[in-house]
Amino acid sequence: MDWWAYEPPASASWGWKAICRVKNKFRNAYTGNRWQNGDKGYTIKAGYDWLQGQQLRVPWHYWVWNSLNIPKHSFIAWLAMLERLKTKERLFKSGVCTDKACLFCDVGEDSCLHIFFRCSYSATICDQILRWMNIKIAGYENMFTTWKKWGRIFRRKKLQKVSYAVLTALVYHIWKSRNHTLWNAAVQYPRCVVEHIQRDICSRIKSSVDIHCNIEDRNWINELVIRCS
Ligand SMILES: [Zn+2]
Repeated sequence: MDWWAYEPPASASWGWKAICRVKNKFRNAYTGNRWQNGDKGYTIKAGYDWLQGQQLRVPWHYWVWNSLNIPKHSFIAWLAMLERLKTKERLFKSGVCTDKACLFCDVGEDSCLHIFFRCSYSATICDQILRWMNIKIAGYENMFTTWKKWGRIFRRKKLQKVSYAVLTALVYHIWKSRNHTLWNAAVQYPRCVVEHIQRDICSRIKSSVDIHCNIEDRNWINELVIRCS
């Protein structure tokens, strides 16, 4: 008998019986809809895939869910890529607020597209971060193109991971600074935001340097940390 067809004995505890009932219900639902998946037999993975339905695969998940990212940075970057951050532009569309001017420059719109990195305020921060990382990029339109450019510049895996961690930190801290401006009616100096990004990244990447890290990558990371201090 397959393990998934196992029926709990009468003496089994209530919790165990409940789990088995759900499992069997789920298996029956899957096998009842198997025509959708062809002849695939039931496995937990096949059942889970069926339950999730068709998922859109996005190329930027390598950047947003990069293992070197700080989790709270990844979360905000993920919302930003989906344009789900509660910007004034979004609230304006749903009739919650009456203006959608950018809180930093008052020229553009308070939208994901403008905040990251079309706004002159965030462009200043981005410039300083690029100088810190010792890279040159001619113009950056938005996050959708920026992460690709950064990925192309850093060919080695470790450095690519660091660059993606910096990019997510950039998005997180610009968003945090934007919220600070909203609640305190005062714009932080770009230099302060840059320092926060550098501090976060340095403490993160220092702990990522281990025996598996080659000498070139180790030197590059050490130089990055030294330039920040
Ligand atoms: Zn702006």
